[in-house]
Amino acid sequence: METSCLFCESPAGSKEHLWAAWIHERKDFGPLKVTIGGSPKEIRNDPEQKIDTVCHKCNNEWMSRVENKTKPVIACMFEDLTIPLDRQQQTLLSNWAVKTAMVLDSVKNPESNARFYQKPECVTFRQRRIIPDRIRIWIGRSSLSALGAYGTDVAIITPEGSPLGVGTATTIVIGHLAVQVMAMRINSELKDKSITDVQPKPGDWDNMLVQIWPIARDSVMWPPKVTFTNSGPRSIATLMDRWRIGKAI
Ligand SMILES: [Zn+2]
Repeated sequence: METSCLFCESPAGSKEHLWAAWIHERKDFGPLKVTIGGSPKEIRNDPEQKIDTVCHKCNNEWMSRVENKTKPVIACMFEDLTIPLDRQQQTLLSNWAVKTAMVLDSVKNPESNARFYQKPECVTFRQRRIIPDRIRIWIGRSSLSALGAYGTDVAIITPEGSPLGVGTATTIVIGHLAVQVMAMRINSELKDKSITDVQPKPGDWDNMLVQIWPIARDSVMWPPKVTFTNSGPRSIATLMDRWRIGKAI
């Protein structure tokens, strides 16, 4: 069955690279072996990873422009240089993270009706770079230079156990940069109610992460005060696992 591109109506499936061309030059990433939710996992570490859910035109036109605009910022953090990010840079990096999260979600769920990010929001993002509501994005530093991404889907429930909606957290490690995109969708019958954003498991997040979306400060510094290690109580696995609070779906 031919499926359409995640971001437009053209046929998908032209086997495009997930990571930008400049990442392919680098092959010296350490393995990212983590324990998440009690089970050991090895996060994929493949610069050549291919995707087949977008079309050649999207990949080579607007997605490539997003990559190229963001490269100077990502390359600094990739190489572990301390940098400030102004509002424009926070927006560029957020756009890159949302694009990557949407693509990863589509790869994880080849059937389009099983995806978290719905087609209209992906199309609107392509056309106008509008980041869907209820998305929050943070950046941190990984002590190990790695390459990979990890997704957690969660059901959002009240303390009494009634369902409020669904969420998905995408954690991307690219060099020393760790990015996390947390997206929530509230059930439609609750749309008009004020529902506060779900909070992660307790942790030293304020010292380990800097929020870049929604933009909270005109300028933020990377890296944050505290770095994610490869193992132990401040490991990158705790970041990947911090939304596993409700019932996993
Ligand atoms: Zn397309």
